[in-house]
Amino acid sequence: MLDLNEAQRQIRARLPQLAAETVPLSESNGRILARDVLAGIDLPPADNSSVDGYAVRSSDLALASAERAAGFKVAATVPAGAVSNEALVAGACARVFTGSYLPEGADAVVMQEDTRREGDTAYFSVRVKPWQNVRLRGEDVRSGAKVLAAGLRMQARHLGVLAGTGQTETEVGCRPRVALLATGRELQAPGTALRPGSIYESNRIVLAEAVRAVNGVPLTIPPVADELEAIATSLRQLAEDHDVLITTGGVSVGDHDLIRPAMEALGGTIRFWRVRMRPGKPFLFGEVLGKPLFGLPGNPVSAITSFVYLVRPALLVMQGASDTAGPRACGRLTRAVENRAGRPHFLRVSVGRDGSVCPVGLQGSHAIYGLSQADGWLRVDAGCQLANGQEVTVTLWDC
Ligand code: AMP
Ligand code: MG
Repeated sequence: MLDLNEAQRQIRARLPQLAAETVPLSESNGRILARDVLAGIDLPPADNSSVDGYAVRSSDLALASAERAAGFKVAATVPAGAVSNEALVAGACARVFTGSYLPEGADAVVMQEDTRREGDTAYFSVRVKPWQNVRLRGEDVRSGAKVLAAGLRMQARHLGVLAGTGQTETEVGCRPRVALLATGRELQAPGTALRPGSIYESNRIVLAEAVRAVNGVPLTIPPVADELEAIATSLRQLAEDHDVLITTGGVSVGDHDLIRPAMEALGGTIRFWRVRMRPGKPFLFGEVLGKPLFGLPGNPVSAITSFVYLVRPALLVMQGASDTAGPRACGRLTRAVENRAGRPHFLRVSVGRDGSVCPVGLQGSHAIYGLSQADGWLRVDAGCQLANGQEVTVTLWDC
């Protein structure tokens, strides 16, 4: 049985890297940047006004005061989006607005609130320092500077700097095509009357969303019974046009646990089986026909827990991600918890608005309603006691 860290490390070492593709900026949110992005221009692209007012040569206003307002000829009007082709001469000013490029010769802007206008003369009752009310060319970012690093998971805020430097598209890791195969004779698709001995199949719909949340394209096929031939046939077909195979069920020690025999029948390799965690122990990782296969336990809580800690990071790494940490929350336990078992326990917990963290729902690995009440997972290491009020970090769902 492998420690979780070691299992994560072994998976990472074996993952194939997906190719990169160029996508429109509007479709790149959440995707993984394939290359560093350098600014193609200065930001701002030119010195410009941060207020509505009058562009001046600051030295011309040395004597302006509330008592003796200085009168200046308004030599030009420069709306945002226009440029003045005349340099500002001594004793003149130019009407400007927020975002107007500064006319040549001007080095400051007097705010409209500190001025009075009479015809084509503007009166200034304040002095201004050089570059006051001016946003300087390149002060935010210089042309050629790295603005985003390869491996970054893009968020809306990153799209802004790309658009602002004039980009329309970006290069990102391709979406992994992920096949989801649920195995178990007892599994019945929802929508039909439940037969004796059966349960409704619920893993694929949860996992499909979890796959989508990390840019994957999930394909689900109807549940497959515990038959070696049927499982092997499905795996062979799915391996053809998918980057990753995920199975649920059939990885324990029962007579009907046939994922491993099916992989062997296809000449696949089992890299490891069983991870020191609860729930999720019977997790399996290997390759079939050159494609990574993640064999998740069938119990719904185990399946999603192993997905969150072992598969989700892998899908991100395949796309080139440099950081696979998901959403987290910090909070304080509202009761003591203890793990007397010999492997880490991933307790399902709620996280209140006030930061209170509390185990929630039935903590069995079959308990899908209990799982539905949890905001996330709290890792409690083997033999560990956490006190009431202790500060903890919770791994949250990202789907
Ligand atoms: P297994 O890992 O195949 O031994 O399954 C463990 C438990 O999880 C059994 O009670 C199964 O009925 C249940 N189970 C397996 N696959 C699914 C699934 N796709 N949806 C819901 N429950 C499942
Ligand atoms: Mg089964």
